[in-house]
Amino acid sequence: MKQDLNDKNIDKNFKLMLLSALVLVILFSYTIYKSSTNIQGLSYYIGIGFLFVLLIISFILRAKQDKIRDYFLKKRGNKSLNEVSFEKELSSSKGDEVVSEQSFIKPVASNITFKDVAGIKEIKEELEEIVDFLNNPSKYQKHKVKLPKGVLLVGPPGVGKTLIARAVAGEAQVPFFYQSGASFVQIYVGMGAKKVRELFDSAKLNAPSIIFIDEIDAVGKARGGKSNDERESTLNELLTQMDGFLGDSGVIVIAATNKIEVLDDALLRAGRFDRRVYVGLPNIEDRKKILELYLKDVKYSINIDKLAQSSAGFNSAALSTLVNEALLSMIKNKKSILEESDIEIAKNKLEFGKKQQKILDIEQKEILAIYQTCKAYISRSKVKLLDDGVPRINKVFLSYGEMLENIKRELAGTVGLELIKNEKYSIGEDAIKRAYEIASLMIQDYKMAQNIEEIIKSAQDSLKDELMRNIDNIARLKELMLKNEVITLEDLQ
Ligand code: ADP
Repeated sequence: MKQDLNDKNIDKNFKLMLLSALVLVILFSYTIYKSSTNIQGLSYYIGIGFLFVLLIISFILRAKQDKIRDYFLKKRGNKSLNEVSFEKELSSSKGDEVVSEQSFIKPVASNITFKDVAGIKEIKEELEEIVDFLNNPSKYQKHKVKLPKGVLLVGPPGVGKTLIARAVAGEAQVPFFYQSGASFVQIYVGMGAKKVRELFDSAKLNAPSIIFIDEIDAVGKARGGKSNDERESTLNELLTQMDGFLGDSGVIVIAATNKIEVLDDALLRAGRFDRRVYVGLPNIEDRKKILELYLKDVKYSINIDKLAQSSAGFNSAALSTLVNEALLSMIKNKKSILEESDIEIAKNKLEFGKKQQKILDIEQKEILAIYQTCKAYISRSKVKLLDDGVPRINKVFLSYGEMLENIKRELAGTVGLELIKNEKYSIGEDAIKRAYEIASLMIQDYKMAQNIEEIIKSAQDSLKDELMRNIDNIARLKELMLKNEVITLEDLQ
């Protein structure tokens, strides 16, 4: 809109100039006509010449108005950070960067919306509230509702965290400020903090807007241990900035991390990143939707359901590479329809290529399914094939029995696998670590027992007993897990 206004003003000025020149010519001619006897030769010609020069200049300006307008807009754009050019940029191609020489923190306009994010329905629903807040702030302000300033997207790489953040900005039609955590960590002390300040200043200037900080752990790691002045001062500045702006300022900070456990507690406190959204590997339904999206404009004879089944463990980025490689093979073989053979070639490339993608074959998928099924059975909760972790009993004061139950939930997968397959597997190292951490708390902090190993052993024995007694039920659940990649509460009834 601002851009239109500028265009109109410049157009108006050109027209006025032309009109003034014409009026002057007429006036001058009239004066000469009326008093021709009093005008001396030379001054007559100078006057007429001057008027014609004026007329020619205005014609040239009119003809070159586009270039002149661009020149003035560029000048203005440099003065007030992207204010003018951003509007122009909004209507330009996907995600082009806005040119600003004054600040290196540049917003991009996101044309990506939730339509471009396939699957992960629950996550999109969670973020719709933020979009609505950015679109209709008064609806929330009226009831004095404060929305979170910070949303933390937690999940492994390549699952679409950046894409989701962009889609939120695109849905709300607000500027999107992208920065990676690593880019804040500079060599010189104070530079990172300055960059954080500039980022927030720019975002506030362009509010409503979204700041996205990718891999926030690079800057947000817990303080302490080996001191790193630069990182600490950057983190402190980030905390100060997050406290400094009001919830209704229209700036929402979205950050992404793979390792929430390493983040400084201060970042996770209320008023900072207090909303967390977990983005896991895509499940079978998600994978199907993602494949359908990628193959939208392609003719194919492949079975998408089968491909979704056989690509468990793939993240969205890997699925995109798979389709791309398959299309390359199709083109190479001069075909116009994508076939199963192209997919096979692409899979091989991914499996043995530089960026090795671990593909879960039928046997590996069964191992994972048994592992996750035992977790679901023991914790009596919904567990997906590709989920990490397990829900724990979460109370202020836990009893001995409840802590032991939490250890069992962590160990259910490994114990179940050993029981059913009669073999040990290299799976669940994080869960084992967590089980030992709980046991250590019980011994060292709460003095509930004497020996960690004893506690672990008693949890394992109890698990073996319980799983053995329900082995048929677990076999049934495992089949469901293989088919649906999830066990729901209804399945457990
Ligand atoms: P992350 O930020 O989690 O590392 P990205 O958002 O960078 O992941 O996504 C990696 C790639 O996968 C991008 O090319 C993105 O377009 C694609 N992608 C990720 N998730 C989805 C999805 N749900 N639907 C469609 N494409 C996706």
